[in-house]
Amino acid sequence: MRILVTGGAGFLGSHLCDRLIAEGHEVTVIDNLFTGRKQNIAHLLEHPRFEFVRHDVIDPFKFEVDQIYNLACPASPPHYQYNPIKTIKTSILGSINCLGLAKRVKARVFQASTSEVYGDPHVHPQPESYWGNVNPIGKRSCYDEGKRCAETLFFDYHREHKVDIRVVRIFNTYGPRMHESDGRVVSNFIVQALRGEDITIYGDGSQTRSFCYVDDLIEGWLRLMAQTETVGPMNLGNPTEFTMLQLAELTLKLVGGKSKIVHKPLPSDDPKQRRPDIALAQKVLKWEPKVPLEEGLQRTIAYFKPRV
Ligand code: NAD
Ligand code: UDP
Repeated sequence: MRILVTGGAGFLGSHLCDRLIAEGHEVTVIDNLFTGRKQNIAHLLEHPRFEFVRHDVIDPFKFEVDQIYNLACPASPPHYQYNPIKTIKTSILGSINCLGLAKRVKARVFQASTSEVYGDPHVHPQPESYWGNVNPIGKRSCYDEGKRCAETLFFDYHREHKVDIRVVRIFNTYGPRMHESDGRVVSNFIVQALRGEDITIYGDGSQTRSFCYVDDLIEGWLRLMAQTETVGPMNLGNPTEFTMLQLAELTLKLVGGKSKIVHKPLPSDDPKQRRPDIALAQKVLKWEPKVPLEEGLQRTIAYFKPRV
């Protein structure tokens, strides 16, 4: 197939491209390189079935393709809050451009949505049927509401124009090729521990997240795109939940070194707990994550070690 990946030079996008190329597809990436890097896809640039185009998804684009994966959007809180108006434009206009193209060329189109659509959840763990608890005017809203509106657009194009959509709600995913200054917790803790700097826990560290290793997530994406039983939305993530204090202690144990744990203020609207209910993915995709946190952290530490 000919496959377009928006945001394909980013962390998740570059791993997706590796899988798609390995499976024999033709892959075109469009990316404005805001948080992505050419070095993530450097090994693919000379490949005859791979093409990179520097382009911003808020401007229209045309490609003759069979599938579209829409990943373009900064994903870490410091990056998406850097230019919040641009972030929400990226989610909304980028989705409209992908959906318009999918409608014209009759492509199956995938949206990388997020567990942030559940906000600071009152239901735990979060099933897809939960509508969420999102602040519409806070600092995280440009991302959360942008992604919620993108889901609305996907389902309206599906109902109105029969566009063949797939929507996945991704829970915290980590692995090699995260940016060392990305700002998300796993890369922050690993880089801090490797540099012997203080490990910065925001708040008291009792808030929870459930961390999925990148290879597990990408396998779920491909299975979702390959089946026709459901268009989603579907949660994908690892249901094993950790506090940020536990994550800091495990990272320190694996890296070694002399870093101390310090506490910094908790950012506003920081969700207190998050864990996916993955019953739908288990039933439809026969999918569940295989890589435990300790093993995934070791692989990610090995990636960062020579780079920091
Ligand atoms: P990332 O920041 O590494 O990748 C995002 C990519 O999009 C980058 O390459 C960036 O340059 C590109 N981009 C941003 N704005 C763009 C624009 N206007 N036009 C073109 N390209 C643009 O982050 P990631 O973790 O790889 O996330 C990929 C997608 O998955 C995002 O949509 C994110 O919201 C979603 N997601 C990720 C996670 C996670 O835990 N990693 C969780 C939930 C959702
Ligand atoms: N966090 C932290 N120290 C850091 C970075 C993040 O304690 O250096 C916390 C953050 O407050 C949040 C959790 O770790 O409670 C996950 O943060 P991240 O930005 O990775 O993802 P998100 O909040 O979007 O799930």
